[in-house]
Amino acid sequence: MNSKPVAIITGASRGIGRAISLALASGGFDIVAIARTPDSECMLALQPEIEGLGARFFPVGLDVAHTDRHDEVISSILEHYGRIDILVNNAGVAPIERNDILDMDEESYDRVLNVNLRGPVFLARRVAREMIWMKEKVNDYHPSIMFVTSFLTYTSFTHAAEVCVSKAGLSMAAHVFADRLSEEGINVYEIRPGLIETELTTRGKYKFDKLVAEGLIPQKRWGTPEDVAKAVASLARGDWAYSSGTIFEVSGGMNIRSI
Ligand code: NAP
Repeated sequence: MNSKPVAIITGASRGIGRAISLALASGGFDIVAIARTPDSECMLALQPEIEGLGARFFPVGLDVAHTDRHDEVISSILEHYGRIDILVNNAGVAPIERNDILDMDEESYDRVLNVNLRGPVFLARRVAREMIWMKEKVNDYHPSIMFVTSFLTYTSFTHAAEVCVSKAGLSMAAHVFADRLSEEGINVYEIRPGLIETELTTRGKYKFDKLVAEGLIPQKRWGTPEDVAKAVASLARGDWAYSSGTIFEVSGGMNIRSI
């Protein structure tokens, strides 16, 4: 069995997931990096960076929506490392076309819900069962599961309604998992990013830049993937060991209501 703790990060190849992988590698974790394309240029570039931090790197190709593959993937991770300490459910997608809710199509709704909600829920269920079993086998074991949701859990975006619905659902899933898994010694956290500069937000950037200039974000700047990764690293380190079920906002204050 691996002597170091092991973190699984979904959507690890770029953006927020990439920054989380690097932060956890720096924090003493060996890494399982999940993305649909395990041999993409960005995934290949990530490997030497992670290994340069003294961590092991295991790239895995998985579309998280394909729940029928979860068993096989978790078995391969256990075969490789022998343990799983942290799952960061980070992978998520935007609608292919940002249509108004009145024009939202069913295919887009199903795709977004499957990737952003159904996949992470069943991956968490699968990993949680393994963690419960592992608690008996691994010394000094402090497992946790994290869900990366969004400011869209509480903000309406009429041209990304399926994302809003998926992330609000994922927020409740985190809450219920936190409730059930507390008694098992597994902490569950929700991380809510605001507007973070990644490939995901390049498409609507001109609109978001205008909103930021108009004061949408109290802290007056876009977030960076590293802003989110620092929060995850702090949770993974155990700084918030007595705070299971907590929602961590990383949004420059977008959650603040003011008049
Ligand atoms: P991103 O730059 O588009 O990166 C997405 C990552 O997820 C990539 O590694 C991608 O790799 C992987 N991925 C996409 N679909 C997948 C699937 N079905 N199965 C497995 N992996 C998949 O996105 P990001 O901005 O870093 O966002 C990460 C998370 O933060 C998402 O859940 C997003 O909703 C959330 N978030 C982002 C923002 C923001 O402003 N950027 C704000 C709030 C919340 P492959 O394409 O190779 O699979």
